Amino acid sequence: MEKYVAQLLEELEKLKANKPDKPNVHVLYPDHPALDYGLDYIAEWECAPMVPMSELMGFALENLPVVEKLTEKQAAAISDKILDVWQEFNFYADFPDGLPELTKYKILRKRWGEDVQHVSEGMTHFEFCDYEPENCPFGIQYCSCQDIELFDMDDMKPLEEGELPF
Ligand SMILES: [Zn+2]
Repeated sequence: MEKYVAQLLEELEKLKANKPDKPNVHVLYPDHPALDYGLDYIAEWECAPMVPMSELMGFALENLPVVEKLTEKQAAAISDKILDVWQEFNFYADFPDGLPELTKYKILRKRWGEDVQHVSEGMTHFEFCDYEPENCPFGIQYCSCQDIELFDMDDMKPLEEGELPF
């Protein structure tokens, strides 16, 4: 597996070259009203199609090993490379501190099998947490929305009658 991972890292690096050219929105979406104002990027943001990540990258999901076959260290190396390649495509992803590398890789690999909208400028941020701690891909102990929920609940203690909310 070590050899495969080394080769995989090289293959992933090459994917940076697959970054699509900036689309010509004047040709693709000539009737978009934003073009009249020179806001080409708005036309692109609104009209860019959803495509499978694997298709956009030119790299099939099956080339990424399932997490069960990897060591923590191998998963970390592949995850770092995936995030590095994604940046080239303006894709960004944040993870909670201390999240186990195998969990992180599993989440990244799953995203590779899903659809994505590529836009040539700006930042596309991937959200993995749906604010449902019990279903969180990070695992309940790493889910940051859990803290928000507890905080909110603390904040919403019922008021005593006649008490002012400040
Ligand atoms: Zn969460």
